[in-house]
Amino acid sequence: MKINKPLICLSVSIAMMAAWPTVAQQKALVNTSESPYSKLKSVDIQDVTWTDGFWGERVKVNREKTVPFMWQLYHDADINHAARNFEIASGDIRGKHKGPSFHDGDFYKVFEAMASLYAISQDPELDRQMDEAITMIQKAQRADGYLHTPVLIEERWGTLGPEELQKQLGFEKYNMGHLMTAACVHYRATGKDNFMKVAKGVADFLYDFYKEASPELARNAICPSHYMGVTEMYRTLRDPKYLELSQNLIDIRGTTDDGTDDNQDRYPFRDQTEAMGHAVRANYLYAGVADLYAETGEQILLDNLNSIWDDVVFRKMYITGGCGALYDGVSPNGTSYNPIEVQKTHQSYGKPYQLPNAAAHNETCANIGNVLWNYRMLQITEDAKHADVMELNFFNSILSGISLEGTEFFYTNPLSARDDLPYTLRWPNIREGYISKSNCCAPNVARTMAQMSNYAYSVSEEGLLVNMYSSNNLKSRLWNGEEVELEQETEYPWDETINITFKKAPKEDFSLLLRIPEWCNESSLSINGQKSEIQTIPGQYASVKQNWKAGDKVTLELKMPVQYVESHPLVEETKNQIAVRRGPMVYCVESMDLPEGRNIDDLMISLDQKLTPEKIDINGVSMMGLKGQAYYRNDGNWDKKLYRTVGDEELESAPVTLIPYFAWANRGQGEMAVWLPFKK
Ligand SMILES: [Zn+2]
Repeated sequence: MKINKPLICLSVSIAMMAAWPTVAQQKALVNTSESPYSKLKSVDIQDVTWTDGFWGERVKVNREKTVPFMWQLYHDADINHAARNFEIASGDIRGKHKGPSFHDGDFYKVFEAMASLYAISQDPELDRQMDEAITMIQKAQRADGYLHTPVLIEERWGTLGPEELQKQLGFEKYNMGHLMTAACVHYRATGKDNFMKVAKGVADFLYDFYKEASPELARNAICPSHYMGVTEMYRTLRDPKYLELSQNLIDIRGTTDDGTDDNQDRYPFRDQTEAMGHAVRANYLYAGVADLYAETGEQILLDNLNSIWDDVVFRKMYITGGCGALYDGVSPNGTSYNPIEVQKTHQSYGKPYQLPNAAAHNETCANIGNVLWNYRMLQITEDAKHADVMELNFFNSILSGISLEGTEFFYTNPLSARDDLPYTLRWPNIREGYISKSNCCAPNVARTMAQMSNYAYSVSEEGLLVNMYSSNNLKSRLWNGEEVELEQETEYPWDETINITFKKAPKEDFSLLLRIPEWCNESSLSINGQKSEIQTIPGQYASVKQNWKAGDKVTLELKMPVQYVESHPLVEETKNQIAVRRGPMVYCVESMDLPEGRNIDDLMISLDQKLTPEKIDINGVSMMGLKGQAYYRNDGNWDKKLYRTVGDEELESAPVTLIPYFAWANRGQGEMAVWLPFKK
């Protein structure tokens, strides 16, 4: 392994910063307000307030339980050493670095969740806690802006040993990337520049470093959150050198001869047309490239993103939106038949249609990465298919990563769970409060939940896009700066009706663009009680352009019949099985809902006996279950048998209840299956 030379750069003095632009008019999570190749702007972080309804309830849990729990956890050095590492790096405490090398980055994710919540609540206690953390982080930062506690602690105390220094595939830039992103959100949420000063030091350090860096050093870009972070710094401070840095990072990536698909740098990005390697790293890379495209408009970047998107969505993504089928695989794009050259990839996209269920990796971070990527694709293309993927992930493979209580988490998100596997899966089917082997996903889901509101609407030159449905109040501005206010009321995703009432509208005509989900084959629009003739096409935005006035009410009906879904015949694991879906929600069967004496293997969904939506309660949370009759067979004895002749046993009919996939594993350990055999 090549070892980086120590990163030393003295050219930047944080104290000598030029005056910054005032806080951008746009305070969005991803600020494309001045991005020349972005078709959409985001609304500001604080513009959307969830009221009641699905996301209102989930975000309340995040605000009241998850984020405080996580903040405390990340300050409890007996469990999680992240905050203590900063204190040791700053010299306040003598000690060693403990925890994974990506601990800093995960601390910044929790911080980002706090800043996102603050944007809406303006809670002074959150502000005080964040200021304390900023003081701690700032104190650890080196004079040249460098900030990565494993190295800083080694430099200060010499407690780790040389092997911990500057590993080529370390998480140094991942940590710095999350710092920059968190600082942008904090700056926009609070208007305060204390964290932004730290982030500017980091960004300036990276600028100077990568101006000189060899392509070998560019390999030190594992899980490249800093591509998004650097471009967001450019958008915040409008300093062209950060855009130059973003461009340089993509340009030098993959130009060495020792690149791997595990790090997505076997080839330069401009030669990549298929998804490969580690799924979190891949999706973060794609999101970062989409950010760069929004600023530069380089066509090959968009062409390749589109090609990779087709590969993921049509060949490699789970029905839940999950990404990264394999715990371990060999490099799918290896060019050699020589076994020595075939690379091992971990947490990886599989081959096309290779989608195992029980051993699906589907890391929550990869699924969040899918949203980060698709949100940026939505901004640059205005194509509703990207919002479809976001919704699929939010309701299914991201929400599955957190318990209903909000304090226990999944690292992997498999599509089946079995008690009788004759081997131990590397990752358990039990949620954990602190995933000691890798707690990256828990803070990631915390910040994502805190930022849900930012994904709900977008603004285009034509009008206002409604991307997500759940009860909320919007108070924002259109493209031309005119104010708009509306109230959205709905029990979506359980109910089919969405009511949107304007509270304030500008004088000029503008379009309200309502997303018609790809799964919805029957939908209709009414305006002030009158049925509209406007076409509602699945997978597109329905555009209603008129002179809106306060009090105008739009009603959108999205019919949600229970749908049985089959997979492409090349997906061997799900052949002759179906998954059950209603609206955007994927359903599963959990063993605690089976009739006495039955197990998951007995069950066959009966297509001629309807499943009916019915409200159920799981741990005090109300949601829509699906109830009906299913067939059960007597699975019999498989002892010392791998194969047997098919018998002619009678199937018995008995009740079945399906629950939304995201809610599984909240009632203790049991078996679970999304894909089920069926009988007509
Ligand atoms: Zn993770």
